[in-house]
Amino acid sequence: MTSNTIKKISIIVPVYNEEEVINKFFQRTRKILEKIKYKWELIFVNDGSTDSTLPLLIKLAEQNLDIKIINFSKNFGHQQAVTAGFDYANGDAVISIDADLQDPPELIPKLIAKWEKGNEVVHAKRKSRKDGILKILTATIFYKFLNLLLQTKIPENVGDYRLLDRKVIHVFKKLPEKNRYLRGLSSWVGFKQTFVKFHRDKRHAGKTKYSLAKMLKLASNAVFSFSRFPIRLARYLTVIFGLSSCGIFIYVLYSWIQDNVVPGWASQILIMLIFTSINLVILSIISEYVSRIYNQVQGRPIYIISDTYNINKSKHE
Ligand code: UDP
Ligand code: MG
Repeated sequence: MTSNTIKKISIIVPVYNEEEVINKFFQRTRKILEKIKYKWELIFVNDGSTDSTLPLLIKLAEQNLDIKIINFSKNFGHQQAVTAGFDYANGDAVISIDADLQDPPELIPKLIAKWEKGNEVVHAKRKSRKDGILKILTATIFYKFLNLLLQTKIPENVGDYRLLDRKVIHVFKKLPEKNRYLRGLSSWVGFKQTFVKFHRDKRHAGKTKYSLAKMLKLASNAVFSFSRFPIRLARYLTVIFGLSSCGIFIYVLYSWIQDNVVPGWASQILIMLIFTSINLVILSIISEYVSRIYNQVQGRPIYIISDTYNINKSKHE
């Protein structure tokens, strides 16, 4: 094999305030990458870290041209960081992995082996995980609930550790969608998909960078981008409450004809409360869609790059 025909693997690592894990992550990952028979590049996407993550990364990049950095102008979020990695990677296969060593780099050869067999999307699936009980519980309930609603099933116990073939990356780069839920998208695109199972460790050091607000945003992206359920819910509620108001109207009319109109203060308040709150529910669902349309129409980029290291500035096709 000449060096031109040797394929290349790109590894994308989103990092947000990960000074405690960067060096350890690199040591473990380098050991694996040195053993594979492919060329490789390791792209760190620094998602607006405020600690010493960036200087640590620059030190690594100065020693090795295959270590590349995309430095965001501020914190845009994990999904955006991975997307930037996809945009600038030039490997034949692209693997996204967390920096905190919860996704063991030792699994990379297994992901590649499945790819060599012709699979185009290889998800790393957790057979067990060492997260807090609350995280496990909320994640389990959320995915069960989500899969009840979705047309595109999202595999359970799958995070953002996966390999994508260049073909899939090509599709991803063409998607104009701003609210990106990569777990949903990577199932939705189709292609030949498979899994590799692994045991998810505890975070190597530091705390989770997924705050509750970030988790809620991810969850609402999943629901609103991959199901029509909220819109259908608004329709069902309208029908239910529309029919019941017809019933109430008939009842009031009947009582009036019967000359039986005792002023029922409590029931009036109750009815008013029910109908105003249902209006609010429907309005809030609609406003969620409006805000998403607004966001899309504004056309702002989903991330802004401040600078890059060892990277060819133009996006790779
Ligand atoms: N991350 C990021 N931007 C963010 C939040 C997280 O780039 O706004 C990175 C983080 O540095 C890590 C990965 O995304 O490499 C997963 O985050 P974390 O481990 O904190 O999430 P958890 O495993 O707790 O869900
Ligand atoms: Mg983690």
